Amino acid sequence: MLGKWFDDTLTDKNNIENIQRQVKEWLKRTENSGLPGKYKAWIYQHGMLPRRMWLLMLYEIPLTTVEALERMVKKSLRKWLGVPPGFSAIGLYSRSSQLQMPLSLVVEEFKIEKCRLVMTPRDSKDNKVSEAGVQMRTGRKWSASASVSQAESMLTLRDIIGNTCIGRQGLGLDHFQQWEKSEGKERRDMVLQEVRKGEEDQRRSKSVQLGQQGAWTKWDLPSRKVTWAELWRLEPIRISLMLRSVYDTLPSPSNLCRWGLTEDPSCKLCGGTATLAHILSGCKTALQQGRYRWRHDKVLQTLADILETERRKKRPDLKHEKTAIKFVKAGEKAQTTASSQGGLISGASTWEMRVELNKRLVFPDVVHTNLRPDIVLWSVKGKKVILIELTVPWEEGCGEAHARKMSKYQELLEQCRAKNWSAWLFPGEVGARGFPAQSAWRLLQWLGMKGKTKRTAVRRLGEAAERASCWLWSRRDEQTWGLAKSE
Ligand SMILES: [Zn+2]
Repeated sequence: MLGKWFDDTLTDKNNIENIQRQVKEWLKRTENSGLPGKYKAWIYQHGMLPRRMWLLMLYEIPLTTVEALERMVKKSLRKWLGVPPGFSAIGLYSRSSQLQMPLSLVVEEFKIEKCRLVMTPRDSKDNKVSEAGVQMRTGRKWSASASVSQAESMLTLRDIIGNTCIGRQGLGLDHFQQWEKSEGKERRDMVLQEVRKGEEDQRRSKSVQLGQQGAWTKWDLPSRKVTWAELWRLEPIRISLMLRSVYDTLPSPSNLCRWGLTEDPSCKLCGGTATLAHILSGCKTALQQGRYRWRHDKVLQTLADILETERRKKRPDLKHEKTAIKFVKAGEKAQTTASSQGGLISGASTWEMRVELNKRLVFPDVVHTNLRPDIVLWSVKGKKVILIELTVPWEEGCGEAHARKMSKYQELLEQCRAKNWSAWLFPGEVGARGFPAQSAWRLLQWLGMKGKTKRTAVRRLGEAAERASCWLWSRRDEQTWGLAKSE
C-alpha cells in the first residue's frame, strides 16, 4: 500500500531490517562506483535521501534505528569529502554556521516528515479523519506529537514577543508572520520550520561546547553558503582544505602533537607553536619572507581588477546633466536611468586609479604624504578621493584589523578634506580562509556595485584569499619562499 509492505507478522520489523540492508548496500555501491567524492555526496543528497525518506516515513521506525543509519551515512560522507573521522558532523550539516554545505541530515528530515504526518490527519477537514486519533510511534527517545506541540507553543510565544530586529536592521524590515492569523498549509509549514530551528539550535549549542572545532562561533563575519555549482568547480583537495581549515582539523604540527602522532609542535620556520593560525597568519619568519604580503597582493590584484572594470564603465557626469522630470504615461513602466542607480564613483565622469602592486604607490597630487594605501581612486574634476586599504587577517581578527586601518589613515583623510577635497576611506577585510567581512561588502556597495555583480565580486575576493592560503599551507615546511613564489 503506497509502497508499504505488509507481511504475516503484521509488524514492520522485517521491513525495517530490509531498509537498513538497502542503505548499506547502496552506500557500498556508491563507494565502489569509482566517482570522485563530491559526486558521491551529490548522489546521497539527491538520490538516496529522497528515496529512502519515503520508506522512513511510512514505517514505524524508532529514532534510534534512524540514528544508526545516520552514523553509516556520516562515515561515508566524511570519507567522500576528505575530512578525518573526528570531524564534527556539524560542519557537514549545519545551516547557520559560517560554512554551510548543501547536505541534509537523515535524522532531521525524518523528524520533519514524521511531524508533517502528525499534522496532516489532525488538521484534516474531514471530521472522520481528524477524530480518528492516529498515533505516530517513533520510539521512546523522541515523539513527533510532543515535538509538534512544543513548536506550536513556541510560535504562540513568538506572537506575544512580536517582531525583533537583529543587528543594524531597520524597524519592520523583516516580514513577520503571525501564528494566530495563519491557516492550513501555512501553519503547518511554520511548525516544520520551528522544528528545524530547534534542531539547528541544538547543533549550534553543541558547537559552542566543541572548543577548537567550534571556534567559528566567535567570528563576526557574513556566513558562506557553498552551492553544488561551487563544489563542481573545486578540486577535491580544496574542498577538504576548506572544510578542515574552518573547523581546524588540518594536520598542523600543533594538532599532530595533540593527536599523539608527533612530539614536536613547533613551527619549522620560527620555532613557535605551529597552530593553523600561526602558519597562515601569525608566523614572524613567514611575514619577513613576504609570504603574507604575497597573499595580500593576490587578493589586492583581484580587487583591483574588479574596480578597474567598474571604473571603466561609462557614467554620466552628474553636474552637467539636466534634471528634467520624466513623465510616465498611464500603462507605461517608468525607466530607471543610470544616474539614479547611485554609487560613490558615479558622481564624476573621470576617475583615475593607482594600486600598490609591484611598485610603490605615489599618492596623487592632493596632499604630500608618506602613507600608501593599497588603492587610491580620485577624480580631479569632481575633487573626490577614495582610499581603499585591504587586509587579509585571520578570521577572528577582522574587527581589530578594521579599527587599526581606520585610525591609521584618519589624519590623511583630514588633510585631504582641509584642501577642499571630498575624501572617503574604506578599510576592507577578507579573512585568510576565504571569508570576506561585512566591510568588503560595504566597500563594493558604496562604489555602486549591486546584486549579482556585487555577490560575484565578493565571492572572487574570498576565493583569491582561500586559494593563496591553500598555497601557503602546502608550502608550510619549506624554509625558503622565493623559489616557490614564482609559480
Ligand atoms: Zn613560525
